Amino acid sequence: MKNKILLSSPHFDQFEKDVYSNMIIDKECFNKNNINNFEDRIKIYLKSNKEICCLSSGTSGIHLALVLSGVKNGDEVICQSFTFSASVNPIAYQGAKPIFIDSELDTWNMCPIALEYAIKDRICKGKKIKAIIVVHIYGMSAKIDQIVAIAKKYRINLIEDTAEALGSTYKGQKCGTFGDYGVLSFNANKIITAFGGGALVCTNESEKRKAIFLATQARDDAPHYQHSEIGFNYRISSVLAGLGRAQMEVLDKHVTLRRRNNQFYQEIFKNIDGITVFTEPNSSYFSNHWLSCILIDEKKAGFNREDIRLQLKKDTIESRPLWKPMHIQPVFKDCEFYGGTVAETLFEKGLCLPSSSNLTNNDRERVAASIQKLLLKNK
Ligand SMILES: *Cc1c(COP(=O)(O)O)cnc(C)c1O
Repeated sequence: MKNKILLSSPHFDQFEKDVYSNMIIDKECFNKNNINNFEDRIKIYLKSNKEICCLSSGTSGIHLALVLSGVKNGDEVICQSFTFSASVNPIAYQGAKPIFIDSELDTWNMCPIALEYAIKDRICKGKKIKAIIVVHIYGMSAKIDQIVAIAKKYRINLIEDTAEALGSTYKGQKCGTFGDYGVLSFNANKIITAFGGGALVCTNESEKRKAIFLATQARDDAPHYQHSEIGFNYRISSVLAGLGRAQMEVLDKHVTLRRRNNQFYQEIFKNIDGITVFTEPNSSYFSNHWLSCILIDEKKAGFNREDIRLQLKKDTIESRPLWKPMHIQPVFKDCEFYGGTVAETLFEKGLCLPSSSNLTNNDRERVAASIQKLLLKNK
């Protein structure tokens, strides 16, 4: 039985294991400084004057960004529809209402035109938008300069869900540093992992202090336990921060390896009618290509998304349809949506392919051979 080729698996080499073992030997892992060191390392990597607060997950980062933006019961929050549910769920935690926005075809992210239309329409209807959550999906930066300009124009806080895009840039600037808040994830399937963890990228020291305060049960400054606000248990564990710090050392290597996978897919689909590999629209964009994705035009290709998925599955290779948009998810079906059918069409025609940074040549050959089989069948 061949081993299963996964979509995106954790990648820990001897180097990071050694870095981590040394931290354990020095007992550094059990020390709070470990969290500070991880935060410093992220800050240097992002090449910005933003402050970093490490948390237990990316989801908790989005939740805290909403709390810090003053999102309360009954407020409206705008969110990209084409994303993972974790981008949206925290809106519901706050008792607020998500308003979904369609994608555009260049980056598959929030359409700036639909965004501005929605904001104007909500204002006309007497509603107050408290925050905007934009996502850099599959590692591809959104049209972030246009989104930032709209958020500024209407004075709405912008939260960048950068869970999939650590290492990606737009015009040379790192994703996660454009908005009022950026959110990172160190979940096991992301480009680097702490086997659970996340971070909130904040604008300044006082925001960071407030984030830490909320993430550690909102304890007032008193000798006894005293609370004037509702807090959360959202701080990262020092042990996991050690793993995360070790992985920061190989982040750029992982970006190179994932981009190489994307190159590989461009190569094998180059002359195949009806299949396009998702890649940067122009040189302003640099994607970490966290996942490599394709769109299949059934009329031209003669087979559809499911045909490829099932062929790969038969050959013990994991693949998955693109995100099912939030506005057509049963749990969010009653929410408002602005846009057309871009996100729905992506879901219908798109497939994510194995993209791990530890994919071997043999793995890639197996994927290519499996696809070749399908092409021959349809000749
Ligand atoms: C993974 C992911 C998250 C959530 O991160 P966790 O660390 O798993 O909580 C949020 N948004 C997107 C787009 C993601 O892919």
